[in-house]
Amino acid sequence: MSHPLDLPRDVPFSISCYECDCDSPDSMEEALAAGWTEIIFTPDGILENYLGYCPEHRPQDDDCDAASPDD
Ligand SMILES: [Zn+2]
Repeated sequence: MSHPLDLPRDVPFSISCYECDCDSPDSMEEALAAGWTEIIFTPDGILENYLGYCPEHRPQDDDCDAASPDD
């Protein structure tokens, strides 16, 4: 199984929000640091190779403690 967050070295990082057309962070590290969630690799993407929820649109969870983003 390949990890969903594996990043091919030769593909520039580009991510799109499911809900809006905001600017993409420059790297996966920046996206995670900025609060992007539910990130998936989309090898068939034309304008982006990842999809996720930007910090403005991340799904709200009543009991989300969000304490361990590295999990
Ligand atoms: Zn968004």
